[in-house]
Amino acid sequence: MTKKCAVIGGGAAGIKAASELRRRGAPVVLFEKSDRLGGRLLSRTLDDDAGVAELGAGRFSPSEHVRLQGLIELYRLPTKTFSFPLQPVQRGLHQHSLGLLKSFCQDLAAYHASLSPLERQRMTLEDAAVNSIGRYKFDCLVTMAGYDTLHNPHLTFDDGVQLLKHHPETCGLFEGETTAWMALTDGFSALTEAMIGEIENDVTISLEHELTEVTARKDGGYTLAFETPDGRRTHTFDKVVFAIPVWSIPTLRGLSMSSFFRKSITPVPLTKAYFAYANRWWADMGVEGRCFSSESIFRKVYFPTDGNYLLVYNDGESAEALHQAFGNDRNIHAAFVQAIRDHLPFALAPEAIPKPVEADHQFWPEGISFWRSGITFVGAGFWPIDDDACVCSDLFTEHLGWVEGALESAERGVAHLYPNDATFVPAALAAS
Ligand SMILES: Cc1cc2nc3c(=O)[nH]c(=O)nc-3n(C[C@H](O)[C@H](O)[C@H](O)COP(=O)(O)OP(=O)(O)OC[C@H]3O[C@@H](n4cnc5c(N)ncnc54)[C@H](O)[C@@H]3O)c2cc1C
Repeated sequence: MTKKCAVIGGGAAGIKAASELRRRGAPVVLFEKSDRLGGRLLSRTLDDDAGVAELGAGRFSPSEHVRLQGLIELYRLPTKTFSFPLQPVQRGLHQHSLGLLKSFCQDLAAYHASLSPLERQRMTLEDAAVNSIGRYKFDCLVTMAGYDTLHNPHLTFDDGVQLLKHHPETCGLFEGETTAWMALTDGFSALTEAMIGEIENDVTISLEHELTEVTARKDGGYTLAFETPDGRRTHTFDKVVFAIPVWSIPTLRGLSMSSFFRKSITPVPLTKAYFAYANRWWADMGVEGRCFSSESIFRKVYFPTDGNYLLVYNDGESAEALHQAFGNDRNIHAAFVQAIRDHLPFALAPEAIPKPVEADHQFWPEGISFWRSGITFVGAGFWPIDDDACVCSDLFTEHLGWVEGALESAERGVAHLYPNDATFVPAALAAS
């Protein structure tokens, strides 16, 4: 008998899981608590051809994110180079700061290479940096790189170096790092739409269905209870993929997570904000295609070459501060203009900077997560609950914090639910 499958969560992992289940011929229902699909993929098409601002995921590496690259090719989604080398601006170090940053990173990398894998996993980035390059240089690196997370007391040396080496703004600070970075011309929401377009005839999609309770049935399978605008609804399924962020599992009745496991997850808040303008007033300032970091509340500011908007990206504590500033400060743009003036010596006079035609921001209280010092659950790529249910998240893969990880986890989680027919492809799909 064909097994009925439920996927909980309509982000990249959930949509991919639904697609993988469909390939195995299973009837699938995809439940999403909000009124839209995509989760942390959220693009905003700005008015007047100002461009597409990514308020969630924004960039990828075709060589490292191979599943994602495969989907982009499959759906023929147009891409563009995401080239925003970091241009740190701080304390008058404008000319020398990049060279200094490179030397800090290379000394850090040399120390990393001198340690055993276990030592690197046991040590926090902060401790390792203080041992090797010293506190002052490390503080400068964190401020100039614009990543507050590098200061997080739970970030291991290994993960911290990975983070620096595998981010578009900082990868160029390391010797021999040549990773190319790309973005989707029409935004990551175009990927969500393409993935949904392929499965929507075969998969039932139930929006505004928040899973609240899970009950394992004696005769196998699960009863799932949802809060919906029309009240509580229950459904039974043979197999379930939980493609929701791992930190939200404890909020579900009936599905437990050990406190050790729960406490091992360190969430990182992220905020993305944009200011859209009628023209690209920064075009003659020599800043196009660059990312500027500063100690201001606007930690990293991206000056695009092909859109009439500026993007601000904050993590950690500064993500929360930026979110609050947007909520409290009625003239956030005046503060933004001031910060640009303070940090870019060649900026235009404030009166020459036009008022934005649009400004908005998105705060993700748990934007991404990582495992605390010395603990790693990477291996299986998903978390098996039993033979018929699993949790899928980028957190269980080597690509944690990336869409690639969400896709990988879904692929591997569904293969776990169907161990004997992982290669099953419906005839119609095989022919297409
Ligand atoms: C600001 C930001 C920038 C990022 N930048 C990048 C980047 O440049 N490149 C990159 O590759 N990755 C980036 N990421 C990470 C990337 O977005 C995530 O790794 C990926 O989108 C995670 O997908 P997911 O499906 O696992 O989770 P999510 O996208 O979070 O999807 C989970 C879904 O489950 C739903 N849900 C939760 N609870 C329930 C429930 N009880 N019942 C029903 N539904 C529920 C949620 O509403 C959500 O839609 C970024 C993330 C953020 C926040």
